[in-house]
Amino acid sequence: AETADHAATSGDEAAKTFAPKEGAEKFTFQAEVNRLMDILIHSLYSNKEIFLRELISNAADALDKIRFLSLTDKDQLGDTPDLEIRVKVDHDNRILTIRDTGVGMTREDLVKNLGTIAKSGTSAFLEQMQKSNDINLIGQFGVGFYSVYLVADYVEVISKHNDDKQWVWESSADGNFAVSEDKGDSLGRGTLLKIHVKEDAMEYLEEAKLKELVAKYSEFINFPIYLYSSKE
Ligand code: ADP
Ligand code: MG
Repeated sequence: AETADHAATSGDEAAKTFAPKEGAEKFTFQAEVNRLMDILIHSLYSNKEIFLRELISNAADALDKIRFLSLTDKDQLGDTPDLEIRVKVDHDNRILTIRDTGVGMTREDLVKNLGTIAKSGTSAFLEQMQKSNDINLIGQFGVGFYSVYLVADYVEVISKHNDDKQWVWESSADGNFAVSEDKGDSLGRGTLLKIHVKEDAMEYLEEAKLKELVAKYSEFINFPIYLYSSKE
């Protein structure tokens, strides 16, 4: 069943270069976000594993949202009734994927939430980092998503919200991101992050490491988290 996953089927994964898909619209990040991403992608911070806590936490938030909506409108769950998180490793392409069946993001959500909206926490976090060099608190400043660039040099966020088509957001943290309609396998509903893991973060593709981290960060998560690997 695992072979049908989006990560396993789409094209030129190993290239790892930012080559926006056909018909993509390009955007520039809000200035402070751009600074934050630049610091994170070049960071020598040793506790990079916290990215997984942040992404699991976002997945759980999205699952909470659809569960809440479904209380008053059962149709919201559609043909994707299982509320869960799936973490999967594609060793050949050095991609870690995190998929949730949460509420998903519309095209507008992707543009605003992951790039163009100025958040008050961004500059506060930048200041805090300058003082303590501690990235661990990133989630408390409302910019936890960007911690993915501690371990990635290129990230794709594929998302399907009930009110919109399926879109893909992509960025290699070089000041730009692009959004286009996703022509890959349908998610039904929810979000799939394709994390192209950096050379110096390969340990986050290791089963044992991920198993340990998922156990650690799933403690207060009220949804099942499954870990898969493409390796035999
Ligand atoms: P926070 O979680 O504190 O709002 P983040 O930087 O972690 O800040 O995430 C920014 C926003 O991006 C979230 O508020 C949410 O709207 C959106 N988002 C991130 N990940 C997901 C996801 N897996 N599903 C749906 N929306 C998401
Ligand atoms: Mg978050």
